Amino acid sequence: MADVVETDICVIGGGSGGLSVAAGASQMGARVVLIERAEMGGDCLNTGCVPSKALLAAGHAAHSMRTADRFGLDTVEPKVDWAKVRGHVKSVIAAIAPMDSVERFEGLGVKVIQASARFTAKDQVSTDNGKTVKAKYFVVATGSRPFVPPVDGLEKVPYFTNETVFDNAEPISHLIVLGGGPIGIEMAQAHRRLGAKVTVVEMFEVLGRDDPECAGIVKQNLKREGLTLLEGTKVLSAAKSDKGISVKVEKDGDTTVLDGSHLLVAAGRKANVEDLDLNAAGVDFTAKGISVDAQLRTSNKRIFAIGDVAGGLQFTHMANYHAGLIIRQTLFKMFWAKADLDAFPWVTYTDPELAHVGMSEADAVERLGEGGFRLLRWSFAENDRAQAEHAIDGLIKVVTDKKGFVKGATIAGPQAGELIMPWVQAIAGKQKIGAVAGLTFPYPTLSEVSKRAAGSFFTPALFSERTKKLVRFLLKF
Ligand SMILES: Cc1cc2nc3c(=O)[nH]c(=O)nc-3n(C[C@H](O)[C@H](O)[C@H](O)COP(=O)(O)OP(=O)(O)OC[C@H]3O[C@@H](n4cnc5c(N)ncnc54)[C@H](O)[C@@H]3O)c2cc1C
Repeated sequence: MADVVETDICVIGGGSGGLSVAAGASQMGARVVLIERAEMGGDCLNTGCVPSKALLAAGHAAHSMRTADRFGLDTVEPKVDWAKVRGHVKSVIAAIAPMDSVERFEGLGVKVIQASARFTAKDQVSTDNGKTVKAKYFVVATGSRPFVPPVDGLEKVPYFTNETVFDNAEPISHLIVLGGGPIGIEMAQAHRRLGAKVTVVEMFEVLGRDDPECAGIVKQNLKREGLTLLEGTKVLSAAKSDKGISVKVEKDGDTTVLDGSHLLVAAGRKANVEDLDLNAAGVDFTAKGISVDAQLRTSNKRIFAIGDVAGGLQFTHMANYHAGLIIRQTLFKMFWAKADLDAFPWVTYTDPELAHVGMSEADAVERLGEGGFRLLRWSFAENDRAQAEHAIDGLIKVVTDKKGFVKGATIAGPQAGELIMPWVQAIAGKQKIGAVAGLTFPYPTLSEVSKRAAGSFFTPALFSERTKKLVRFLLKF
């Protein structure tokens, strides 16, 4: 007879989304069962955000050594010990892991089941270690995995994905990266800075989801560092070669063969829906993921889906945001709580970083119409701190409506991921541009680019003939 557990909330998947629901709900008094089949922490901790940022940090350190002559110091070509770099990456994961551990969650009162779960009825899941869980609500947070495109011969060659690349301890001489989205590009720059030759093959445009002008600044920098970016280029086939891997690519009808030592597939993500037996629970899904409404409800009203498996923007902070919505609905019956992404930011952690929130220039043209918005810009070359640090490749672009309400911002530049926050706050708080222009920023900081961009909203009126006339008049008294 199967072991039956009855609970208020059953969470399937112990990654960013699932852990946030479990920790919050259990500390607020709900009975919570969490089912995780692999490592606690999911993609973000084990094979995503954390190891990728740690590898980038190693790459940035190597780059600083190589480019120290900017500051009058002798440059040093770093000797990269790939096994030690892997050690560094693993040590960062290990330092964070206790926060996501079974022990911590059990300490919070969550019942953790380490097994694979699938639905066996509309109100019940079963696990492959013989347990059955009946719950008032279920939260599916099973995440995503790498999408491997149907490329001829790919199945016969060794390749990395984000699930394996952080285990590499060998020198890489030439990495071919299939896919020029944020994941592919972050990994491309990290490996380039660690000494590998890197070629990125992208069918459309590299960093194509972001503002082209700001993405262009990042791409320019990557090319200067010696990365080869092949855009509008399709991978036709892959095969083993003397050097490692050969990849045949095609652009505008011309084919070329690239010879690399290693291949990284970073060509998108696939939602983890297959093993859940969603039909047994009456939950609709497509190839993109589980179908949800703005409240993250599935076609079975007692089942919610959050994070990557819900098919929207795939970020850890999205999964966390979803978790908050679920807690409000299930515990506090706030069924009006809906996802609102107007102030949802994202960042690509290249150097320079690329950060975005709200409307881009292109969105503004589409939604507010030409002439229906103001575009404010400021270059990092006009920022004293950026000059002091020789980090002047950067631009901030801010969109406001005609009345000055902040609608969006994109920043390419050093620490853009930190600098985006006043704009997130301005959009979330439905503030006008004066809320940022009127702040005092410490000098010299990179964040002054925000003040200068914001201030430029008022420049035409402030420095106009009308103002000059008014001032000359007032000075008479
Ligand atoms: C290389 C890389 C870098 C990234 N960098 C960033 C970044 O810098 N910032 C950012 O915001 N996002 C980043 N992301 C995205 C981020 O990792 C994901 O958006 C986030 O992990 C999604 O959380 P989740 O809870 O939906 O899924 P996950 O964290 O993937 O967790 C899903 C969990 O469900 C478990 N599971 C699946 N099926 C079952 C089942 N049937 N039974 C039991 N358990 C199951 C899995 O084992 C897994 O642990 C990155 C991703 C990658 C790949």
